[in-house]
Amino acid sequence: MSDSSGASNFIRAIVVSDLETGKHGGRLVTRFPPEPNGYLHIGHAKSICLNFGLAQEFGGMCHLRFDDTNPSKENTEYVQAIQEDVRWLGFDWHDKLFYASDYFEALYRYAIALIKNNKAYVDSLSADEIRHYRGTLTEPGKDSPYRTRTIEENVDLFTRMRAGEFLDGTHVLRAKIDMASPNINLRDPTLYRIRHVPHHRSGATWVIYPTYDFAHPLSDAIEGITHSLCTLEFEDHRPLYDWLLDELQTPHHPQQIEFARLNLTHTVMSKRKLLELVEQNHVCGWDDPRLPTLKGLRRRGYTPEAIRAFCEHIGVAKRDAIVEMALLEHFIREDLNRRAARVMAVLRPLKVVIENYPEGTVEYLEAVNNPEDLAMGTRQIPFSRVVYIEQDDFREDPPKKFFRLAPGQEVRLRYAYIIKCTSVIKDERTGEVVEVRCTYDPATRGGSSQEGRKVKGTLHWVSATHAVDAEVRLYESLLDPNQSPGASDVPAAINPQSLERLAGCLVEPSLASASSGSRYQFERQGYFCVDVESSTGNLIFNRTVPLRDSWAKIEKSQTVATS
Ligand code: ATP
Ligand code: MG
Repeated sequence: MSDSSGASNFIRAIVVSDLETGKHGGRLVTRFPPEPNGYLHIGHAKSICLNFGLAQEFGGMCHLRFDDTNPSKENTEYVQAIQEDVRWLGFDWHDKLFYASDYFEALYRYAIALIKNNKAYVDSLSADEIRHYRGTLTEPGKDSPYRTRTIEENVDLFTRMRAGEFLDGTHVLRAKIDMASPNINLRDPTLYRIRHVPHHRSGATWVIYPTYDFAHPLSDAIEGITHSLCTLEFEDHRPLYDWLLDELQTPHHPQQIEFARLNLTHTVMSKRKLLELVEQNHVCGWDDPRLPTLKGLRRRGYTPEAIRAFCEHIGVAKRDAIVEMALLEHFIREDLNRRAARVMAVLRPLKVVIENYPEGTVEYLEAVNNPEDLAMGTRQIPFSRVVYIEQDDFREDPPKKFFRLAPGQEVRLRYAYIIKCTSVIKDERTGEVVEVRCTYDPATRGGSSQEGRKVKGTLHWVSATHAVDAEVRLYESLLDPNQSPGASDVPAAINPQSLERLAGCLVEPSLASASSGSRYQFERQGYFCVDVESSTGNLIFNRTVPLRDSWAKIEKSQTVATS
């Protein structure tokens, strides 16, 4: 799957046609408008790839605009994190960084203009009363008794709202449209609220704040956006978007186009729910590798290339759908298969003593760093008399077709020799096998099989005296896969197996000083990445994804090259 743009979707088709017909003067300006009230997640990545991707493909521009009109939930930590994440994904807004809060004065003037056109009024009903007057999907609303206030009275009241003369909730500014409209969004929607709350950028300057429905279309128009792409839940707001821009005769009239949001199985995407998980310490922060946040995915080992390829693949449609997490995993496997160095690491070690191998001898064996990319070269791996293998790779009573190590059975140690199990040593109390005794065949160095010799299994291993201790964190889906997706009580739906920490893992010595963020394939196991908390002497790896590619199986496409 190509990472570059060019895939066809209905929005791209609209853009192509608009550019051809010269609509918007042949310009293409999109925007990504996050509210700085949380960290970005993979859903946002879909919107980022779409908006920045279109601008990139057609020589347009994509603005990054903070939709910061709700002071109580927003802060500068989020503003910083969002910029980092957009850059990390590989996009650039050049000098087009904007804040809706920078338009507060302009928006205020637009509001005054609406009032003067008799298209907005100050309502003094309470929030409950407004809701009650609004009607329902089946019943029309009714006019507020304040709807007939004169223009002068409205200008006076709105000016005093701004001046801070009134308490929160005592008045609002509403558009004067139609209380009987079948579209509830047109039943005199609220445009401004009084909120005596300081803003992270404008400080205490403002005590009235515009609603999303008012600020958004006007911010788009002020910036000369041509295509305002948003998710489907705003489809019913589009008539209001257009009404405002028409009434106010703004210099630009962007076209709002809606597309389906991305939903993924077994996780949560709503910022409100993510915030709850973070604040209640159900996860270890916004960058917890189990979260679908960009920070979490990055710490987990995801690459921007894989996320972009995934977004490209899922495309853009008009209908909501839930995408399998396995599809996202497929794209990180594909990317890491190409670029991650192969190394050997034993997660649950079992001691193997090679009885006929001389004590004190060390041999260095050549290993290929990446069979997919021979330019990545080779490295030398130490081999000695005592090695560790995976506990799972040994069975005292092997089932049929168990081609790993068992009494009397032979296996190949990757890059090293063929060994044969001669006996086991057990813990006398528990009966557990604590050590396996073997002999090796010196003629099989390099793991090469002699003619006619049938040794099916190849195991990864580490040399006991050379291996480096590490912690490995294994992740499964955040939400219990047996519970229905989107479970309303998210903390209760957390998968108890979502994080397993393994201490005492052993990795080959080439990883001793692996730096955080580096990604590897642990042979036969999966892709792993060095955690941010890792250091030399205290190595920590996160499992990005296991090797098994259930998606590839589903698709019957070729399997990722592994053992
Ligand atoms: P959430 O529901 O997670 O809080 P939001 O829509 O309130 O998300 P915003 O910060 O307002 O978050 O989103 C910025 C942009 O990202 C919007 O244009 C929004 O439509 C888009 N976006 C948010 N979530 C998704 C998603 N799951 N799929 C696609 N686009 C999304
Ligand atoms: Mg929002």
